[in-house]
Amino acid sequence: METPIFCNMWERTAREAPPACESLFGEIACDVAVVGAGVTGLSAALRLREGGADAVVLDAAFPAAGASGRSGGQIQPISGYGLARMLRGLSPDQADRVRAMALTSPDLVFDLIDRHSIDCDAVRTGLLRGIHHERLLPLPGHEPAADAGLEFLDREQTARMVGSGMFHASYFDCRGGGVNPCAYTRGLCRAARSAGVRVFSKSPALELRSDNSSWIVRTPQGTVKARNVVVATNAFSHGLVEALEQTIVTVNSIQIATYPLSGKLAASILPGGQIASDTRRLVYYFRKDAEGRLVVGGRGPASDVGNFGHYGFLVAWMQKNFPFMAPPRIQYYWSGEVAITADGLPHVHEPARGLHIVAGFNGKGMAMGTRLGTSTAERILHDDPARYGFAVRGMRPYPFWRFRKAGVRLAVSAYRVLDKFGR
Ligand SMILES: Cc1cc2nc3c(=O)[nH]c(=O)nc-3n(C[C@H](O)[C@H](O)[C@H](O)COP(=O)(O)OP(=O)(O)OC[C@H]3O[C@@H](n4cnc5c(N)ncnc54)[C@H](O)[C@@H]3O)c2cc1C
Repeated sequence: METPIFCNMWERTAREAPPACESLFGEIACDVAVVGAGVTGLSAALRLREGGADAVVLDAAFPAAGASGRSGGQIQPISGYGLARMLRGLSPDQADRVRAMALTSPDLVFDLIDRHSIDCDAVRTGLLRGIHHERLLPLPGHEPAADAGLEFLDREQTARMVGSGMFHASYFDCRGGGVNPCAYTRGLCRAARSAGVRVFSKSPALELRSDNSSWIVRTPQGTVKARNVVVATNAFSHGLVEALEQTIVTVNSIQIATYPLSGKLAASILPGGQIASDTRRLVYYFRKDAEGRLVVGGRGPASDVGNFGHYGFLVAWMQKNFPFMAPPRIQYYWSGEVAITADGLPHVHEPARGLHIVAGFNGKGMAMGTRLGTSTAERILHDDPARYGFAVRGMRPYPFWRFRKAGVRLAVSAYRVLDKFGR
């Protein structure tokens, strides 16, 4: 009898090898110091090096140790309502730039995968967002137009694509797809190192200070001197830049994966290999991995996530929606931290000259992090704020940040009720 494991499945199954990076010892100098080796930091470093800048990456643990290496691996554009909110208040020119950046972020990911031969089981089979409550069905004649990139699928079409009648209908977005997120992040790291980026593991940035026109980043055993610094620590933004931590609230997202499914079972769940999620505020997301495991994720408990009991609701979800699997045999359980912002959008900050911060992906940072990391590099290479596309904003604290734990608990309870009634 096999024993289920509490560990990140993507790390276990990635064929891209873990990069062998040393810790930083001594004093070094470069053009740009990047803090954080997830998709945001690594895509920034890669683009900087390609543009001729000398970039150094520091990670407190190792490349892909954060959310990038353990996410659901959905490669999604920000579209629909999220995009509309992102464009609010922008000038027409700015809005065009941001729209293009948001919608083409999956193109950038799949292009990087191709260009650098990243071995990450990339599939561009599209994303399905299932409508979980009939109240959320669009009025007849108001379904999204296919030229907006979204196709409306009715109940039967959706059931065929999912292999279950759990949804009333769905929106299908052919721009997106999926990857093994750990392999993708490691691949970005390999590409950056091959291009000449120096990447250091177990080298937490402890302090950041400016010294004339340079920045000094201090780690336990060394320092990096650079004209520009990119802080790409997302949900782990504690302490390094004053006030950044308070712009974000962190929540847990948890995932489980079955043993590889075979035969009829494998063919009946997501037969076309699409990547799926739903319209709940407390979203469920699910897909198969390259070996045919069914992977399901959802909102985790507020604090402790190291207990198998906390994953019971995901197993129950599998049982309810794919009853022919009963009982599902779970091989892996794991979790990660998601950075939530008050407006639900990623934030770009530049609190001082040469200090660039990108954070707050709200659980949708695999493509957007790659996009904003790359844009940050462009902005530095060309010394042009317009290269962000995004509005650079001040660091405003999340309302009632001190009471965030209670706030998250309250919000989760409220969202559960709203989801139940399709509100
Ligand atoms: C369970 C889960 C599922 C998700 N599913 C999806 C999904 O399917 N699709 C999607 O688009 N998004 C998803 N997300 C969100 C997505 O993973 C993140 O938005 C994205 O990976 C953020 O990338 P990043 O590079 O900004 O941060 P991270 O990948 O978190 O990297 C930050 C890095 O900074 C390092 N660090 C922190 N502090 C310091 C310091 N002081 N010094 C040096 N290094 C430091 C950390 O060790 C870490 O490696 C999910 C997230 C989670 C947790």
